[in-house]
Amino acid sequence: MKAVLFRAHGGPEVLEYTDFPTPEPKPGEALIRLHAAALNRMDVLVRKGWPGLKLELPHINGADGAGEIVAIDSPLPEEEGLEVRVGDRVVINANLGCGKCEFCLDGKDNLCANWHLLGETVRGTYAEYVAVPIKQLYKLPKDFDYHSAAAAALVYQTAWHSLVRRGNLQRDETVLIVGAGGGVNTASVQIAKYIGAQVIVVGSEAKKLQMAKSIGADILIDRSKETDWSKSVFLATNKRGVDVVVDNVGATFMQSLRTLRKGGKLLTVGNSAGPKFEIDNRYIFAKHLTILGSTMSTLEEFRAVMNLVVTGKLQPIIDKTYPLQEAASAQERLWKHENFGKITLDIL
Ligand SMILES: [Zn+2]
Repeated sequence: MKAVLFRAHGGPEVLEYTDFPTPEPKPGEALIRLHAAALNRMDVLVRKGWPGLKLELPHINGADGAGEIVAIDSPLPEEEGLEVRVGDRVVINANLGCGKCEFCLDGKDNLCANWHLLGETVRGTYAEYVAVPIKQLYKLPKDFDYHSAAAAALVYQTAWHSLVRRGNLQRDETVLIVGAGGGVNTASVQIAKYIGAQVIVVGSEAKKLQMAKSIGADILIDRSKETDWSKSVFLATNKRGVDVVVDNVGATFMQSLRTLRKGGKLLTVGNSAGPKFEIDNRYIFAKHLTILGSTMSTLEEFRAVMNLVVTGKLQPIIDKTYPLQEAASAQERLWKHENFGKITLDIL
């Protein structure tokens, strides 16, 4: 098969479009002929590598993908309730739970003790084919676009688990989303509006803020024009503070904590500006704040959120599509925050 792989960690130049053996499905797995893959910032982090990351090189990036089933090794036991056949159109859930540990058995497979993420520690979707466990598949309606499906899978489940399960966001609450352009942030705006919450978005580019407004954001704050944007958020809530903050930047935690009302929650699923930063702990205890971390979602939540996607209640935002061969350019666009919404790869 054709794939984009890397043999050593490094810059975008290590990505190589070349031939690679087509994977073979193991028992309980399906082989998918991919038509679309979607990018995540994690792809670039994996390509660059970090101390302690152990990969079997060459590695293939990509957590998100959609395509059709071309082979199944052995079907799942019937009680799994997931009937898929060769020829079905599917999207992949990248959250690979072992299915056997105490967390998986309790339906919390994103807490799996032996957790893997497709494209991170196992080879992913920047390829013509990928083999994944059948339980990771969601069957798509006949005419649902592969790119929209691939663009939806990781970010909607991540935003849903964070906002709905962890944050328990309610319809009369106000949520602040820090950052206007990324995939999880745009998914968070849409999910918060679907729930009926008021949404404030702080961003640094007028164009991206206008796009955030076009998908439902109620109040926009341009941080390039502010000395302290947390004050503007506070004023926008009539000095009450917001109920929930979504902060996947990290370096902005202190400003985010300042915008919260007493008893408010900060939700985080990542740190796009780097993993280490300072927090003034007085804000946490004196304001009774909660910081809630999470990653990905449960299988049940993934299916629930994909049901909303295929029925049009949540509409994936696609920024730009590149041919698979141009994955390096696609990653550069993502890494430089030039995108609004998801970047996808077209796999012919
Ligand atoms: Zn497990």
